[in-house]
Amino acid sequence: MKSAEFMQWVTASPELDHHQRKLLSEALHQQCEAVTVLELIETSFDTHHACPHCAGVQLYRHGVVSGLQRYYCKHCHKTFNALTGTPLARLREKPKWLNYLSAMARSQTVRGSAAGAGVHRNTSFRWRHRFLNWISQDRPTKLQGITEADETYVLESNKGQRHLGRKARKRGGHASKPGISDEQICILVARDRSGQTLDFVTGNGPLTKPLLTASLKSVLDADALLVSDANPTYTAFCHAEGISHEVVNLSQGQRINGAFHVQNVNAYHSRLKLWLGRFHGVATKYLPNYLGWRRAFEQHGQLTPERLLNAALGNFQYLTVT
Ligand SMILES: [Zn+2]
Repeated sequence: MKSAEFMQWVTASPELDHHQRKLLSEALHQQCEAVTVLELIETSFDTHHACPHCAGVQLYRHGVVSGLQRYYCKHCHKTFNALTGTPLARLREKPKWLNYLSAMARSQTVRGSAAGAGVHRNTSFRWRHRFLNWISQDRPTKLQGITEADETYVLESNKGQRHLGRKARKRGGHASKPGISDEQICILVARDRSGQTLDFVTGNGPLTKPLLTASLKSVLDADALLVSDANPTYTAFCHAEGISHEVVNLSQGQRINGAFHVQNVNAYHSRLKLWLGRFHGVATKYLPNYLGWRRAFEQHGQLTPERLLNAALGNFQYLTVT
């Protein structure tokens, strides 16, 4: 629009009635949000700037479609945009993404996020897990030095699934069997003294040596010293793998063994469980996504919609997708 024409338009704006003004304001807001989201997407792509099909870096600009730059890859002759190959490809209603991510940065429920962004509950659920898809894969690859490990349990939940073999528990509920049973899901957390944290959903029932080996063997650095409680599973694992090990006998009231304790990992468990509580029982199937979301809070403290979008596109601390 030419500037003279635009000024005429602005001059005429007082003639709008209240309802029209609100509609116009909403339309302008949506357009601004869309531009911001598109800019963030393009900027995120620029950090690696490679073809999602073949990782080629000789790219030509190839027009703009739906506000996003299209590229042509000289190497594999395919075209793509910044979202191709990401979990956010073909996700609609971009103007609402930042509002939605802002709700996620405030740990809102699926229902609360839906209301905040003005989308349907089913859309809210789908978006949540699309955004968390890559965020949950952003994990350190090694734990070094003194590393605390301990397991915690949450009740298995088939929330959202129909045709249950038993009556569904309401809002988390209670286990019917005492102690650790196959009704409970084990979450193993290992954290080194630099704060690098890894979590593993090892499955139903108690932690066993094979499950511990499958989780920790490849991620413990050669210099790692594992600190755990007196659960013999840890002793057996460390003995078999030749890993230095210190035990804190919590059941006998011992909280510290010299310089060794598991207080960091236990505090992590407490924060995790308190936070999970706000979602009134998380479906077991989606637990890894929620653990990834929690790690993002732990690593970055304050999350912003922009930071979450960047992470959802693969630009985060550990994970760089090219
Ligand atoms: Zn290519």
